Amino acid sequence: MQTLKEKILQEGIVPGNNMLKVDNFLNHQLDVGFINEIGREFARRFQEQQISKILTIEASGIAVAAISAQYFKVPVVFAKKTESKNLDDDVYKSEVFSFTKDKTYSVMVSKKYLSSEDRILIIDDFLANGRAALGLKDIVEQAGAQLVGIGIVIEKGFQSGGKILREAGIQVESLAIIKRMSPGHIVFQD
Ligand code: 5GP
Repeated sequence: MQTLKEKILQEGIVPGNNMLKVDNFLNHQLDVGFINEIGREFARRFQEQQISKILTIEASGIAVAAISAQYFKVPVVFAKKTESKNLDDDVYKSEVFSFTKDKTYSVMVSKKYLSSEDRILIIDDFLANGRAALGLKDIVEQAGAQLVGIGIVIEKGFQSGGKILREAGIQVESLAIIKRMSPGHIVFQD
């Protein structure tokens, strides 16, 4: 998505340690009009898939998932993160190692909000090593639902998540894929 690549080049900051900060439009301040364009693009790429629900993970996936959901006309469910192991029986849960916080969380979704009838699209802001997406995939499988695709705003192609998920046969649509980056320098895949 060309407009996204341009926005990343103009507004993204690479502080080092493989992190890209896009707080100006996606992760702190939200450029709702622009995120709306992202939603329209996800809808175009997954239009054949008859999605019944979008699944994301709190907190940074929620804005893009919710705005995108208006095009799909389906509900959004966001997995809750918790450090507590003491979860009740009415949830699906999985473990996710957080790239940004360098620690492992439990993530959970109430059994009320996913069913074996569901065709799920996972949406998230970033794809790095794929841990968040794999945790959500695990939750979809526990529910007996079908994972029909993963929509990612920014994939860091030099980390392993995209390869793992595509090799698992999943349709992964990343709107911008970064080939390499360093402070002041970002190069995209074509
Ligand atoms: P993964 O689970 O694929 O290793 O990492 C993806 C998750 O970590 C995303 O949900 C995102 O919130 C966060 N993340 C990973 N890399 C970055 C990054 O470079 N910048 C930002 N803002 N978040 C990231």
